[in-house]
Amino acid sequence: MTKYYLIHAEDVDDPPFILRTLDRRVDRYLPRSSYTDLVCSECGKISELAALLRGIEQSNLLDYDEDVFRSYDDFYIISEKSKRVFDSIEGLELNCFTIPEQPRFYVAMPRIVLNVDSSDAFTVLGQCKSCLRPREAGWGPGIPQIPSGLVLGMYPFETRLGIAPDWVADSRVVNLLKRSGLKGWIFEEL
Ligand SMILES: [Zn+2]
Repeated sequence: MTKYYLIHAEDVDDPPFILRTLDRRVDRYLPRSSYTDLVCSECGKISELAALLRGIEQSNLLDYDEDVFRSYDDFYIISEKSKRVFDSIEGLELNCFTIPEQPRFYVAMPRIVLNVDSSDAFTVLGQCKSCLRPREAGWGPGIPQIPSGLVLGMYPFETRLGIAPDWVADSRVVNLLKRSGLKGWIFEEL
């Protein structure tokens, strides 16, 4: 039987924002100007995939040593070295979005989106009346049912700010990431 792992990204000091920026007048992190039409008028969340496909406007991304880390708005940021490992794996589907002025890094998101269902593996709180996204979604006490044959996917968990995905990968992906000596990946067997 294939073993599956959660693959987490290390936290870094001063993580960058990708789709939001600090508005000093109101002291809040608001969506960058090029995404305002993608913001839900009810809950304020940005339609993240549409925004990423439109292109990353700008970010305050510094030059980090890690090969993966999370942005403040909860995206996985991966290095060129990490991307090369994923690119080498047959059947793995990963969207990588370029970041202006930071050619060493990408915002990455698995194309396979796993189902956050009503089982006890998940906890879902509230739902937006307009965009129908959960207000918050995350892990519950149970064990999730992983679809057979999965190579890499993500659970589209949510915070009040927006998507906060958790990635799941099979042991082949995990072994390759481990062998590649990349910095910042954390593995947790499911
Ligand atoms: Zn909404």
